[in-house]
Amino acid sequence: MTPNTIAIDGPAASGKSTVGAKVADALDYIFFDTGIMYRAITWTAIQHGVDISDEDAVSKIAEKTPIDIQPPTKADGRSSDVIVEKEDITWACRKPAVDTNVSTVAAYAGVRAALSQQQRRIGLRGNVVMVGRDIGTVVMPEAKLKIYLDASAEERAQRRYDEVIARGEQANYAEILTKVKERDHVDSTRDLAPLRSAEDAIILNSDNLDIQQVFEKIMALYK
Ligand code: C5P
Repeated sequence: MTPNTIAIDGPAASGKSTVGAKVADALDYIFFDTGIMYRAITWTAIQHGVDISDEDAVSKIAEKTPIDIQPPTKADGRSSDVIVEKEDITWACRKPAVDTNVSTVAAYAGVRAALSQQQRRIGLRGNVVMVGRDIGTVVMPEAKLKIYLDASAEERAQRRYDEVIARGEQANYAEILTKVKERDHVDSTRDLAPLRSAEDAIILNSDNLDIQQVFEKIMALYK
C-alpha cells in the first residue's frame, strides 16, 4: 500500500515547500505548509502591536485567530492564499519582520497546542503532503513516509536570496544567512517539538541536488 500521508520536515529554506507542493501535485494530494500558520500568527501579533515576548498575549492570538488557507487565486508563485482577518497575507507573512520573530512565537506552548491540533485534524483526512518541523515527530507520527530534508545553511540562504530577488524585492545574502542560522538554532533547541528527524525518517541532503532530483527521490520512495 502506498502512504497516504507524507511528512516532510527540515530546517528553514531547505526546499520543503517547493518539493512538497510538487509531490502533492503529482499525487493529487493536498499540500499543507504548516509553517504558514506560525507565520500568520506572528504577522497578526505584529499587526496588533502585541509584544512578541508576551507569551500569554501571543498564545491568545493563536487560540482565537482563524487562519484560512485556500487554493491560490493568483498565479504569482504562491502555493495557496493565506487569509487572516479578511486580509490576503500570503506575501506579508514572508516579510523579514516575520522571519525574525516566528521562531520565538513557535516555541510557545499555547501557540503550538492551538496550531498543531488543527494541523493534525487536517492530516488525519489523508491524501496530504505536510511540511514543517515536527510533522514526523509530533503532528503525524503515524505518517507512512517521513522525509527529513536537509542542506547546508549557506546553500539554503542562497536559495532564499534567489527567491526574494526573483520576486523583485531587495535582499542581502549575509543577513539572510545570519537569520537562517538563528532560526535553526531556536527551532532545534526549543523544549517543545524541536526540529529533529524522526527515527524512522529518511534523511535527504539536497546540497548537490536540484528540486527535480529531490522530487524524483521522494517519488521513488513513495512507490
Ligand atoms: O517553514 P517555515 O520556514 O515557513 O516556518 C516558519 C517557522 O515556523 C519555523 O522557523 C519554525 O519556527 C516554525 N514552525 C514550527 N513547526 C512547524 C512548522 C514551522 O515550529 N511544523
